[in-house]
Amino acid sequence: MAAAREVPWRRLTCLSFGMYTGVEIRKLSVKPITNPVFLDNAGTPSTNGLYDLSLGPLDNKEVCATCVQDFNHCPGHLGHIELPLTVYNPLFFDKLFLLIRGSCMSCCHLTCPRATIHLLLNQLKLLKIGLLQAVHELEAVLSRFLEDNAGTCGADIEEMLSLKTEEMLQNNQLRDQGAHVKNVCDCRNKLISQFWKSHMNSRRCPNCKAGRSLVRKEHNSKLTVTYPTVVLQKSGEQTIVEEAASMYVLL
Ligand SMILES: [Zn+2]
Ligand SMILES: [Zn+2]
Repeated sequence: MAAAREVPWRRLTCLSFGMYTGVEIRKLSVKPITNPVFLDNAGTPSTNGLYDLSLGPLDNKEVCATCVQDFNHCPGHLGHIELPLTVYNPLFFDKLFLLIRGSCMSCCHLTCPRATIHLLLNQLKLLKIGLLQAVHELEAVLSRFLEDNAGTCGADIEEMLSLKTEEMLQNNQLRDQGAHVKNVCDCRNKLISQFWKSHMNSRRCPNCKAGRSLVRKEHNSKLTVTYPTVVLQKSGEQTIVEEAASMYVLL
């Protein structure tokens, strides 16, 4: 009787999605694609083009130049195109727009209170292990802290929130709340969309007091930033004029 074959196996504990970095893409790639011509005049795949045989054979008559297998067995291989300029990732364009719209062009900080940013970051840490209740508790802790310590600085808030979050994470390490996956995802999306909506609308930067720049997007490919002009009144007061002072197009 043949001995039972042991099949190696692993139980998945989690799954996450992300984007490859430039270094990872170059490591995975079998060659850079530099030739804009797919096929030559005889219909043969052009070298360094999108149909280059190093990426896999086109049909049954060809053999892969990388793994030397035929059309049915070659798994296909990745190539890459080196871009001469930095370009937006179209998948993240909307988020990039929101981030730039909520940023100060003078001091490069987000134009929302520091407490809001630290609260969101710590709430996201809690959600990583599914602590839904703790998310609301942390918000209540911050409200009480701000009531008791009016005029406190961002560093104190950051320290208090990270200590409290650490404590909550330690206390809940053994509880299995990861099953509420949908609730956790909903809560994460809600926190982030609330952050975009309610905390990106201040007219002046709370950090450097500069006026807000106007950011417009065009066809998911271009962002236009209009800087505000500060006019000095006779009384010595500074007034921000809404009209465009200068236009900058970010490619
Ligand atoms: Zn191959
Ligand atoms: Zn600023």
